[in-house]
Amino acid sequence: MSEVVELLVELIRNACVNDGTPDSGNEIVSVRTLQAFLGAPGTVVEPHPGRASLVYRVPGRSPSAPALCLLPHLDVVPASEEEWTHPPFGGTRAGGFVWGRGAVDMLNVTAAMAAAFRPYLEGRLPSLPGDLVFAAVADEEAGGTFGAHHLVEEHWAQVRCDYLLTEVAAPAFPSPAGPVVPVTVAEKGPAWRRLWRRGTAGHASQPHATDNALVPVAAAVERLGTAPSPVRITPEWRRLVAGLPLDADLRRRLVDPDHVDAAIDDLASVDLPLARWAHALTHMTVAPTTFQAGTKANVVPALAEADVDVRILPGQDQADVDDHFRKVLGPAGLEDIEVEPVLDFPATASQPSGPLWEAIGDAVESATGTRRLVASMTPVGTDARFFRARGVTAYGVGLFDGTVSFGEMLEMFHGANERVSERSVEATATLLADVLASFGRRTGGGE
Ligand SMILES: [Zn+2]
Repeated sequence: MSEVVELLVELIRNACVNDGTPDSGNEIVSVRTLQAFLGAPGTVVEPHPGRASLVYRVPGRSPSAPALCLLPHLDVVPASEEEWTHPPFGGTRAGGFVWGRGAVDMLNVTAAMAAAFRPYLEGRLPSLPGDLVFAAVADEEAGGTFGAHHLVEEHWAQVRCDYLLTEVAAPAFPSPAGPVVPVTVAEKGPAWRRLWRRGTAGHASQPHATDNALVPVAAAVERLGTAPSPVRITPEWRRLVAGLPLDADLRRRLVDPDHVDAAIDDLASVDLPLARWAHALTHMTVAPTTFQAGTKANVVPALAEADVDVRILPGQDQADVDDHFRKVLGPAGLEDIEVEPVLDFPATASQPSGPLWEAIGDAVESATGTRRLVASMTPVGTDARFFRARGVTAYGVGLFDGTVSFGEMLEMFHGANERVSERSVEATATLLADVLASFGRRTGGGE
């Protein structure tokens, strides 16, 4: 077994499960694993017991050259064992795959980044022109409070960079002219809302004219959950569709606001995960996710609350979310309940150009024989947003061997039977090593 696969198996077995509570995660376990793999203690940042991130900074040769940071995360989301073929925290190797929670989100890339970084830390490769940072972080899966967000806010000098590699790595789209490799350059922004109402408790045997908190909140949830959400065709989406190896007619309809929904329906009949992805990248999405009300079957509920996961596209903002809620709920619906912002981040995007983009092109070309990149967008939130907010150019990329399609991998993120082929982990490690070398050549200036 190659070292990078061995590292991935150990990271999966460490089971750094982040359930969103401060005492979960326990990323310190995987920090210890990485310290052993990298052979140096680095700097451990632990803002809450067990919630540790590990940072190394290899100084560059030239103070004016741009710094590059590798930013993998160590935590994973929970998994319910009964849905899995192999235990989610076993790191089982079977049929050329490593199985387990984190195999694609994102311990595969975490292992590959550590392998690509190690020769620079050990001095086996000469330093890059600019500083090279490796920061393996806690808490990506719950908003980065104890991880990337904390490092950017409190330890910027240690993670400061101009270019960043993090999520999301996804398989290439096959095409007759060679694989089209997606490079994630943009992500939607979470604009979560909480709906709530306070009513008056009373005996549920006499409900006439009581103030039941549940009913108006449930009505609002029903309306928001079923109303069509607004379409928006962004320049990022146009560029992405133009680069995808799709049938020309489908491509044309996917960027036409009047026909995109029908095109997504067609796509759903052949590849549902891909259709969901296309829907999310062309709409403000609105998904009710939690509902709490009442205490007992015979008591009129005095409090009801529901969370709605809203995600906005580049060019949309909080005012667009408020507009949509107003339109769907109407003035009367809005009078009945309170709507409160819970998360409030804009979408972020980096330009698909410059030395890191070209370095990825070089590395893809040497691995696949063709230089076909497509600038992609992700509907999920990643740690890239904290860095993009500081002007950093941030991408996500990996290389996969074609055993799992783009759509199939989308389903594995936070889903059951997450797995990655060993060859893909090795290919990603090689790709990242080549990206670092090429980035060094391209940022070397006159040296
Ligand atoms: Zn992730």
